[in-house]
Amino acid sequence: MAKSHAKATVAPAPSPDFFHKLASSVPSILFAYWLSADRQSHAFPYISAHVLHLFGIEPEDLKQAADPLFSLIHTDDLAGVGDSIQESAHSFEPWQYRARLRLPDGSYEWFEAHSRPERQADGSIIWYGQFYNVQHYKDMEQELRASETEYSFQAGFQKLVARLSSEFINQGFGSIDECIGELLQSVGQFFDMDRAYLYAFNDKYTAITKTHQWRRPGVTALVDKDETIAVDAFDCWRERLLAMVNENRQVPGEDRDDNLSGVEVVHDHSPSADAASVFCVPVRVQGRVVGFLGLDSLAPRDWRGDLGDLLTIVSGLLSGALERNLLEEQLLSQSIRDPMTGLHNRRYLMPRLNELVERAERYDENFTIAMIDIDHFKQINDSTGHLGGDYTLRHFAEIVTDLVRATDVVARFGGEEFIVVFPGTEQASVRQMIGRILNAVRQGHFVFDRRLIPVTVSIGVASARESEDHMMSVDAVIGRADHRLYLAKQAGRDGAVDVSGPMGL
Ligand code: GH3
Ligand code: MG
Ligand code: MG
Repeated sequence: MAKSHAKATVAPAPSPDFFHKLASSVPSILFAYWLSADRQSHAFPYISAHVLHLFGIEPEDLKQAADPLFSLIHTDDLAGVGDSIQESAHSFEPWQYRARLRLPDGSYEWFEAHSRPERQADGSIIWYGQFYNVQHYKDMEQELRASETEYSFQAGFQKLVARLSSEFINQGFGSIDECIGELLQSVGQFFDMDRAYLYAFNDKYTAITKTHQWRRPGVTALVDKDETIAVDAFDCWRERLLAMVNENRQVPGEDRDDNLSGVEVVHDHSPSADAASVFCVPVRVQGRVVGFLGLDSLAPRDWRGDLGDLLTIVSGLLSGALERNLLEEQLLSQSIRDPMTGLHNRRYLMPRLNELVERAERYDENFTIAMIDIDHFKQINDSTGHLGGDYTLRHFAEIVTDLVRATDVVARFGGEEFIVVFPGTEQASVRQMIGRILNAVRQGHFVFDRRLIPVTVSIGVASARESEDHMMSVDAVIGRADHRLYLAKQAGRDGAVDVSGPMGL
């Protein structure tokens, strides 16, 4: 024991076996690489045994020529390896290089070599060094790059959403249409799409109308704005659209090929016939799906896994803007409409009449109004009750609204007094319409509480310009119409009076 203990205190002198063990104990492949003086031959006088385990090459086989190992270098890296060795041979700077080498399973992994050249007496060079697998670092690098890209994508998206939502809230754009246009353009460009659009469903989900669109310059619009298409025309798409409405799903995303064939089948009718990839998300207003936001890509593409979630955020912005707009419209309409009949109220009527007077003056035009009062309305109230009176007002409003043109204005002026405005119209031209109103009311079939209510009206008609060069004010026109209404009542009611007296209708 004492003897062997004494022996162990003296370190063994390094032997070839010692260096062999040392070389096989480090993870790198140690090598001595020799390049002949004429630079035409090369070999590995020494390379550690790892080369056998890693590449299936016997170190012995590399002693004659380095070719078996060099033949594993990826073709894209081969020239670089050769050049860098030549450069090191010239400058005697250390040689280090990264290249891909083919493993026995056929895959390539990155290796990095570090070595130092030493000139030999005969002009040849030997590099002493090591190479080792750096695939792990390459993978990490790539992951880092991918996550950087992803990070800046996410940050960009957050920025986009923040900008759009603040612009929507601050009404940075003039109208809701401009808001939506800006949103579609921003989103289309951000996701690098060719088209971005908004389709609106009709109430029964049987048809869609493209209400807004953005397209990259040079990309064609396949469906005209405001063109309505039956959902049935979409064939394969139909079920997806309806699923989107019913189940809140996105269309179509993952099964892109299937979708593509669907688009091809209905080539003429598809809203995106030339698009290789289409992605849509529903847009809701007050919980109800009112349409969908769609993105087209003319080139096939793989959608991001979270694209549905991202576009749902965008569609939430749209929903918010549409809801606010709806609310504003409702508020506006409440302030300018009579809640009982749904007709315009006096607050709406008076500025319109002022505008018409100005316009008539400027363009030498005319307009005509009819003031209509229900006859013996007090009696209707007395016989049917106040509710019967209300019903009569509503039914009368419907009858008149159905008769006149969309450009004519029907307003409730007072209790059971109404004014119909015929813009740009001479008195003679409304004669027929006055007759129709009188008749429609007579035959109006007013039934309340299962009782038929006989209803007639009296009408006074006046125009802004009744004599050649005299233009009346709003008050004066209304005053004349009111006076003629009074004359019609005097004449026995159920009739009309205009500038030339009782109209005999
Ligand atoms: P005339 O043929 O001369 O016009 O007789 P009339 O009974 O219609 O005349 P008047 O203008 O005196 O009566 C209008 C009545 O309409 C008085 C009022 O109580 C009633 N009225 C006004 N607004 C409403 C309403 O919103 N609902 C109901 N039910 N009645 C109303
Ligand atoms: Mg009356
Ligand atoms: Mg009255």
